[in-house]
Amino acid sequence: MEALVLRSIAYGDADAVVQLLTRGRGRIAVFVRGAKTSRKRFGGALEPFGRIEALVCEREGQELWSLREARVVEGHRGLRDDLHRIAHAGYAAELSHDLTRAGEPADGLFALLEEFLTRLSSGAARSGRLRAFELLALEAAGLAPELSACARCGEEVPAGRATFDPDAGGLVCKNCIGGTYGVALSHAARAALWQLRWGGLAAADAPQSADGSGRPADASAFEEAAAQAARPLSLFLRHHLGHALKSALFLEQVGAPL
Ligand SMILES: [Zn+2]
Repeated sequence: MEALVLRSIAYGDADAVVQLLTRGRGRIAVFVRGAKTSRKRFGGALEPFGRIEALVCEREGQELWSLREARVVEGHRGLRDDLHRIAHAGYAAELSHDLTRAGEPADGLFALLEEFLTRLSSGAARSGRLRAFELLALEAAGLAPELSACARCGEEVPAGRATFDPDAGGLVCKNCIGGTYGVALSHAARAALWQLRWGGLAAADAPQSADGSGRPADASAFEEAAAQAARPLSLFLRHHLGHALKSALFLEQVGAPL
């Protein structure tokens, strides 16, 4: 089966447990006996972020499958020599892991993560792509935040600066503000999120101006707007996951775009 390597954890001296996001079967964990010693057998196929063709063996009644063979189809090598790209890839992989349940098909997320890693391999790590990934990954999990109408009462939230309430599920109108964690979203940040929500990763790489004219956006202004939306979305994610992402800390430590 086709799979993306989310992470690989050494188990004992020689073995490893590898988390895979597969096409068809969703997220699975595989036990790799002799992962360290059988480099020849697996090549670089156990390295995180690669797309591999894996021969796995399902073990009845057990959550941990075993990996028989694996070969690299696309190693996404371009993202391994840059700390910011590694940080973004690690964040996307952790988010993909945490937004899925073991064994439940997640083909939409598989395609999204593959596209994200491909784009990241050949360009700088950018906030716009990270926001697009968060929004589309949430949507794939059925958890998309409300970005136009009020998440509490359904009234339209007029254009411009608005309040985002992670507890309520997205934007809230003036009458419904009152959540403990409401955070402000500037007009530009709102417009950026809207564009990324509907345009996906392609929109992150070719953003349009927030004035609705269809002209290309100023790239650095768009980046800034996307970065402003980092905190509201991370609070939203924390609300749904029940914990903060470990890789978010690494992102900050290496100074990668948030
Ligand atoms: Zn309202």
